[in-house]
Amino acid sequence: MNTFKLKPVGIVKNSFNEPKDYREIKEKLSTIEIYEEYKDALLGIEENDYLDIIFYFHKSDEKLQSDTKTYPGVLRGVFASRSPKRPNLIGVSTVKLIERKGNMLTVQGFDAINGSPVLDIKNCDTSMFAHEYDNNPVHQNKLKTAPRIDIRNEIHSNRSESLMIKAAQMHGHYCPGLAMGVMAATHAMNKLEAESDGMEDLLAITETNNCFSDGVQFVTGCTFGNNALIFKDLGKTAFTLTKRDGEGIRIFSKPESQEIIREAFPDFQNLYKKVVEEQNHDPELVTAYRKSALERSFGTLTIEFEKLFGVQNVKADIPEYAKIHDSVICSVCNESIMQTRTLKKDNNQYTCLYCNGGGYNILDGNGIYKLD
Ligand SMILES: [Zn+2]
Ligand SMILES: [Zn+2]
Repeated sequence: MNTFKLKPVGIVKNSFNEPKDYREIKEKLSTIEIYEEYKDALLGIEENDYLDIIFYFHKSDEKLQSDTKTYPGVLRGVFASRSPKRPNLIGVSTVKLIERKGNMLTVQGFDAINGSPVLDIKNCDTSMFAHEYDNNPVHQNKLKTAPRIDIRNEIHSNRSESLMIKAAQMHGHYCPGLAMGVMAATHAMNKLEAESDGMEDLLAITETNNCFSDGVQFVTGCTFGNNALIFKDLGKTAFTLTKRDGEGIRIFSKPESQEIIREAFPDFQNLYKKVVEEQNHDPELVTAYRKSALERSFGTLTIEFEKLFGVQNVKADIPEYAKIHDSVICSVCNESIMQTRTLKKDNNQYTCLYCNGGGYNILDGNGIYKLD
């Protein structure tokens, strides 16, 4: 049989020198000292709130080889338990990281006793099964008839942090721009008592194609794909939410909003200066910068709405409902195309604008323009 050698990477420090009821141990904070030679392995660890700690039960010597053992009231195999008495004396605990100071980690919810050798640390990842936590069949069924009900409830209760976490699943990162989009859209939705069914009865007219507009799209449900998002290429952090009757409200960022966000998070400003402007890429500094950027993004949500935004009632010009166009086949690439995006040749054949060599509109980071 293969055997393995393990070496400790650190040691647990707390006030429990002998095994005790694990609940009592978990209630007190513990410190993990990581040995000097593994210090670099801690890089970025403070970005995690939860960690899995693998450690050695150094005071437990009964290596169970049998299949079952009776625990209070229940007969259970050792692999179905968290008993410290096991074939290999290895413990695993999910803990909350409270603080890192150099090579010392303060953690909560750890059940290892003083002097336990720590074998490894990993960041927690339960994402594979996350969908199983909220698969209440009643709610799943509700979501099939009202796909935005969760978002609607969160808008109504102003749960902007939860909305931003969901919006970031689309946007890909957290930033103050996304936060501002979430804030502006939440405000507008509540003001208009609006709800989007993704059928163009509620329209969002956005004036910028940056991060802000993803917050607007997510919260209002007016998106690029459902034709309820109208883009005015004005480069302003502003948007209008309007119903079909044209009665809408426009929310725009105040000129001082950037300065207010900057001043609210001075730590970020200092780190930004060092890491981005002065190009200091010291790994610990970069970690601190990333953590501070995250705090700034979520912190933006807590700034008073009136400090960042102005609100106007407006009468919006509403376009017709998007027409359903016939599709035709391009005679060159053989792909199906909306008829309005074609050139008709003399012989009654269609060519798509791409095969025709350009002359179509493009929207990218530079705004909207015609590609020749
Ligand atoms: Zn962004
Ligand atoms: Zn073509």
